[in-house]
This record gives sequence, structure tokens and C-alpha cells, in this order.
Amino acid sequence: MKSISISDFEPIDAKFKDIQFLAIDDRTCSSRYVIRYKDKIMMIDAGDGQDELDFTPDSIFLTHGHYDHTKGVKADWKEVWIHPSEDASLPFIHIPKNAKPLIGQHFDFGPFHFNILHTPGHTPGSMCLFEEKSQFLFSGDTKFANGGYGRTDLGGPDAVEKMAESLQMLAQVPYKVLCPGHGEIERRER
Ligand SMILES: [Zn+2]
Repeated sequence: MKSISISDFEPIDAKFKDIQFLAIDDRTCSSRYVIRYKDKIMMIDAGDGQDELDFTPDSIFLTHGHYDHTKGVKADWKEVWIHPSEDASLPFIHIPKNAKPLIGQHFDFGPFHFNILHTPGHTPGSMCLFEEKSQFLFSGDTKFANGGYGRTDLGGPDAVEKMAESLQMLAQVPYKVLCPGHGEIERRER
């Protein structure tokens, strides 16, 4: 299995070098993001488990339960967070056994202050993370670059309406860099 180290991650914005990502284009695997502070690592999404991280994040947030975002979580990771309304009975959902329900709407990590936004639609437990200082929005499979958004056919009852509400809410978020779960990163002028 291919091993991935923290140095494989690349900064996204020269102003915020501690926010880094690793994109995989050649298979159904989520993009992975890390935020670094001193020797600590916060991570957003784990990928599909078909490669192996040789480091342990101190905290990881899963934007939703689809396996291509969650199967990379290892059994010995301690702080693994998923939204409590994620529905394990829906297709392609894989919730790691050590994942805990995320309660609360804020998470502080070093100088960074994350707002946790519940954005159902793609799945009932989809969430986005908005970091106030850098104005990065980590949008999972809810919102993609160039106006794209996630599929709603796997999201359970009322997924279409919920997605519309979630996208409306995200339109109010003053982000400058959109970091989706797949594909391109989108930048707005600062
Ligand atoms: Zn998904």
C-alpha cells in the first residue's frame, strides 16, 4: 500500500502555509486537508483507505460518512468527529467505529477558529467547516468549485430541498478559498 507522509501535503495559499492539501485525481478518493500548528495536526477527511498515512492526526473531522472520505481513518485515531445526524443505513456510508458524534459549532485549533456548519442534502450528516482567520471553507461534497454541488440521490428523504437550503446558507459565508471534497480549489479575491 502506498504510504503518504505529512510532507506530501502542499500549501494552498502563501499567506496561510499551515493549511495544506493532498488531492488524488485518479480514483474515487476524497481530497484531504491538514491544518498544522506546532507539532499538532488537524485533518479534514481521511480518503478512501487505499493508501496509508504514516502520521496520526490529533483531530480529524469527517465532512460526511461516504467511504471515500472515511475509510482512511485508522482504528487507533483518538479524536475522530462526524456529525450526529449521519445515517449509516444509506448507500456508501461507512462510519468508522472510533468516530464520535460532533457536538458544538466551534473548534479552536492554535490560531484558527473553525465554525462547524451542518449542511444536509448530499447526506443527512454533511457538514462544512469555515475558518474565520484564513476565510477558508472546507465544503466536503456539499459545494464544489465553479458552482457545482453534491449529488442528492443518495441523501435520503427531502435531500433536494435540504441541499437547496444548505447552499443558500453557504452563499452567506464570506469565504475566500473554497476547499471541496473533490476536484479544484476555488479562490475569490481578498
Ligand atoms: Zn460524498
